[in-house]
Amino acid sequence: MSLLKSIVYNTGLYKLAQPIFGGIGHIITLHRVVETLDDDRIFWSRNLEVTVEFLEQTILDFKREEYDIISLEEMYRRLKVGANDKKFVVFTFDDGYEDNFTLAYPIFKRHKVPFTIYITKALIEKNLKCWWYDIEDILLCYKKVQAIDISLDTSTKELKEAAYLKLRARIIHTPFENGYAFYRALMAKYPPCKPHAHWKPMSIEQLKLLATDSLVTIGAHTANHYPLSKLQLAEATLEVVEGKEYLETLLNKPIVHFSYPYGSANEVGLREMEIVLSSGFVTATTTRIANIFPEHKDFFGALPRIPLIETRREKRLFKMSLSGFLQAYLYKRKRVVTL
Ligand SMILES: [Zn+2]
Repeated sequence: MSLLKSIVYNTGLYKLAQPIFGGIGHIITLHRVVETLDDDRIFWSRNLEVTVEFLEQTILDFKREEYDIISLEEMYRRLKVGANDKKFVVFTFDDGYEDNFTLAYPIFKRHKVPFTIYITKALIEKNLKCWWYDIEDILLCYKKVQAIDISLDTSTKELKEAAYLKLRARIIHTPFENGYAFYRALMAKYPPCKPHAHWKPMSIEQLKLLATDSLVTIGAHTANHYPLSKLQLAEATLEVVEGKEYLETLLNKPIVHFSYPYGSANEVGLREMEIVLSSGFVTATTTRIANIFPEHKDFFGALPRIPLIETRREKRLFKMSLSGFLQAYLYKRKRVVTL
């Protein structure tokens, strides 16, 4: 893909996708904002982060290109009434990390740009099992990792990168209890040497402060960040409802926007969408990489997004995503991507 990507980007070929796959707007996915990127980290976990500088530049780029940077509520309204305004962009953050408050919020405030944070209840309560950071911490510490049915040589950076993907799949792409039993076995055998050295959850006080700012929309991201499709119906419903009710009680306001944990076809299907829409949410976002079209007004429960990924400080992948080129490639030329 990388040679093909270079050719498509350098020749500007990707822009040909724009008229068909560019859509009327984009929802951007972010997780964390940091001062500097640490290239010694595992890419698949580090790519959840962008620098302050890169985020600010992205906002300025959208402004220069005369996008409307709008809230989720305004996007919902526009899609519902079929408003034909300027092209829009919506910024969203998943999970609820402290840097969303300390580093991202000042940037959005300075530029008077709205954004959404989807909060996971257990993260805010400081008892979320963040396997994505735990396995990264383990891989950076150990030269070999063996648990239950997996044995991996993790002696080089390349092997650690490959091992991350194998461990990720072993945890979330298997039946729920089986995957989490593996994760627990791994954690019991390999205590990380610097656990959670680079991140913190947002505090309840910070969340409450954000919720009072009209620029900020607080959405829900379940109670425990489990892959919903791997749970029984009753458990999955409880995950969705508990996350919503927790935030409504804490913030004393209705919470009507949702993002699915993980959000790919492995974790989100029709059943999960029905659970979310019948629990009182009006929009739900996935991690399918695609643009927004007027037809999404009939699919508010499965809105695709575009991740902002900072690789060598360039926006090649991001620009190819915004044009719809990546969507056409990933979804076999499907225009309106839902589930
Ligand atoms: Zn998440």
